[in-house]
Amino acid sequence: MESVFNPDDQNKNLDKKIVIALERVSEAFKVLLWEHSKTHGLSPIQIQVLIFIQHHSPETSKVGYLSDEFNVTKATISDTIKTLEKKEFIFKEQDPSDQRSYQILLSAKGKELVQKLTPYPSILEESIKRRTSEEKKVFYDNLLSLIHHLNVSGIVSMKRMCFSCKFLLKNENRFYCNFLEKPLAKHELRIDCPEHIEIQ
Ligand code: SF4
Repeated sequence: MESVFNPDDQNKNLDKKIVIALERVSEAFKVLLWEHSKTHGLSPIQIQVLIFIQHHSPETSKVGYLSDEFNVTKATISDTIKTLEKKEFIFKEQDPSDQRSYQILLSAKGKELVQKLTPYPSILEESIKRRTSEEKKVFYDNLLSLIHHLNVSGIVSMKRMCFSCKFLLKNENRFYCNFLEKPLAKHELRIDCPEHIEIQ
C-alpha cells in the first residue's frame, strides 16, 4: 500500500511530496516556538496564549475560546492562565457584559514580553517576501483552498476567516464584504479578521 511517508512513493508523486513539505513547515512552527519557550522560561502554550491575547479582542480571551483555538482542554488553558497570572504577565477583569465571566488582559510586563515573542515566525516571512506578488497570490489561494477542505472534513476551524463570516457575499469566484462595503479579490480574503462575525 502506498504511503505519503514512503520516500519511494513520494518520489513518484508530487501530491505526496507536497504533503510532506507541509509537514516540514508545520515542524518549523514547533521548533521556533520551543526555542522561544526555552529562552523565556515559558511553555509553548503559554507563549501562544500571550500572543493571542495581545492581538485579539477581550471577548475571545476566555477559557472556552482559547481551548478551541489551540485544540487543548479547558483544564490546560485554566492552568496556563493561573501560571501566567502568577508570573504577572496577565490579569483578570470582570466581563462588563457578563457578571459570571471574566476577561483576561495583558499586564505591562506581559506586553513587554510579547514584543520580544511576536517575531518568532519571522524566518518564514523572510522566505515568503522573496516571492513575486503573483506567486504569493497563487500560494495564498492554494492555502485557503486547503484550509477550506480541512474545515469541511472537520479537522480545522475557519474561525475569524471570511469564509465563515456573515458579511461575506460570494458569487462564483467573486467576493464582497458587506462590513467594509467593498469587493474583495481572492488574495484580500482575510484569515484573521477583527470585524468577523460568525454565520449563525
Ligand atoms: S468582515 Fe472581515 S471576515 Fe467578514 S467578510 Fe469582511 S473582511 Fe471578511
